[in-house]
Formats: sequence, structure tokens, C-alpha cells
Amino acid sequence: MRCKKCGKKAVAHLRAYGIALCETCYPSFYLRLVSRSIRRYRILKKDERILAAVSGGKDSVAMISALTELGYKADVLYIDLGIGTYSEESERSVFNLAKQLGVDIHIVRLRDYGFTIDDVSRRSIRKTCSACGVSKRYIMNRFARENRYDVIATGHTVEDVASFYLKNVAGGSKLWVEKLAPRNEPFDAKIVARAKPLFEMSEKENLIYVLLRQLPFTALECPHSPSPDWKEIVYEIERRKPGFTKNFVRGLISPREEFGEIKYCCICGEVTNAEICSFCRIRRSFTS
Ligand code: SF4
Ligand code: ZN
Repeated sequence: MRCKKCGKKAVAHLRAYGIALCETCYPSFYLRLVSRSIRRYRILKKDERILAAVSGGKDSVAMISALTELGYKADVLYIDLGIGTYSEESERSVFNLAKQLGVDIHIVRLRDYGFTIDDVSRRSIRKTCSACGVSKRYIMNRFARENRYDVIATGHTVEDVASFYLKNVAGGSKLWVEKLAPRNEPFDAKIVARAKPLFEMSEKENLIYVLLRQLPFTALECPHSPSPDWKEIVYEIERRKPGFTKNFVRGLISPREEFGEIKYCCICGEVTNAEICSFCRIRRSFTS
């Protein structure tokens, strides 16, 4: 197959766009898509201080590299969750990535709060991924606010958004709609804005970009990773109907919903909807 732009040998065939591209034309095509998405949905502004949460996987690696190439001012935040060799390997990889891209890196360790995700999993006090999600969101927000970042960027993909939606519709939950937006403005002074610059990009598109740019990333899977049921359903529909996932996600973008009453955690003072925030509840079970 030949590249649609220059006629050289193609390395990527993107069925969603009906286009094949060579190793030279692909990265600029990818960056154009990311840039268009950021502008169209007002995901980021050029003068903002961005804190990019990078786990070391292909998607967050693609995000920080694309932001840097597009001229945004972004630093890396790596959260050491304390998940054995997975965390060690990921940290090494993110450290090398930051060096290669010439961006600042901050590392925050969950064990400094008195526990790790491996501890959570051993005790099974709560579903591991749910405690992990609470911990990541807590640390990202607090670190970004205390270090005066304007916005936190995460590497969520179009498959993440679509599978999250399907899972919650099936579960009858209504508290999720707000989370799907490409950008969430703060609803309180203690909350930092959140952005998903890759919400229209697929995992495959991110992977091809990362490979062609020869960026370090970890292909290891977290040992606590649950079976990707809903994602597999999204992959299957996309396989049968190329372009489905992007169209579906674009159709979901809706106006912001209002939040309920805002409270502050009586232990740490962060925003919560209960007396004690979810993070402090987990933490307390390890430290008291
Ligand atoms: Fe955390 Fe679960 Fe992701 Fe592992 S798979 S990093 S435990 S959310
Ligand atoms: Zn708290």
C-alpha cells in the first residue's frame, strides 16, 4: 500500500479515515488531528501551565510528546503507585521520556501517604482499581494546585471515553456524564481544571505515533488490571464499523452538568461530597 500524501511505502492504514500513510507523513497527520481537536473543543490554551499525568503507557506518552511538539508548556507528573516491578519499570521509562523531550518531571510517591496500591490489593479493603483511581485523582489535583498549574492533562483515548460511557449506561449510573467532557473547568477554588487532549484519538493511532517517534514507553500491563470487557466490546464494534468510536464519542459531548453541594474533607480539607474524602478514608485504614 502507498502513502496517500507522498506515494512512499505506507506503514499505517487508518480505516476510520480511509487513508494510508508513510512513516514521514503519519506523525504530522497525527499532530494535525490532535491540534484540531484541542482548538475545536477548547481543550487547552497556549499560555497555560499544563501538568501532564504520564503513567509510561503509550497513550500518556503520546500525549506529552504531542503537546510538546505543538508548542504547549507542559511538565510531567509521574505517580509512583507502589505496584511492584510495574511501577519501577514505568518510572524508569517516564524518566527517560522526560529527558528525551527536555521537559521537567515531578515524581510523587503514594507510599509517602502511608500505603501503596499493592497494600490495598493485599487487604482487598476495596476494589483495587477504584482505590487507585481515587488516589491518582487526589494526588494530581493537590499537586497541580499546590504547584500552581492551570490544568491537568490526562491521556484518555476515544476508546476510554466510549467504554466508560457504555459501562455506566449499563450500570444505570448518572454521575459520570461530566467526566466525559474533553475539558472540565473547576467548580471550586480547590479544584484544578482537567483536560483530555487525546479524547478523539484511538489507542492504535497513539501507538503508531509513539513507535515512529521512537519514544520510550512501557508495554507492561498493571498486574491488577481488570478484564477489559467494555473496551473489547468497543474494539469489536470498531472492527465491524470503522469510524464508529470517534463518531459515537463526538456525539456524546454535551453541556456541563451542575454539581451537588460542595464540602471539604474534615481531615485534609480537599473537596469532597462527604465528611471525609475517599482518599482519606482509604489512607486512614492503613495509618490509624
Ligand atoms: Fe491502578 Fe487498576 Fe490501572 Fe492498575 S489497572 S494502574 S490498579 S487503575
Ligand atoms: Zn481528605
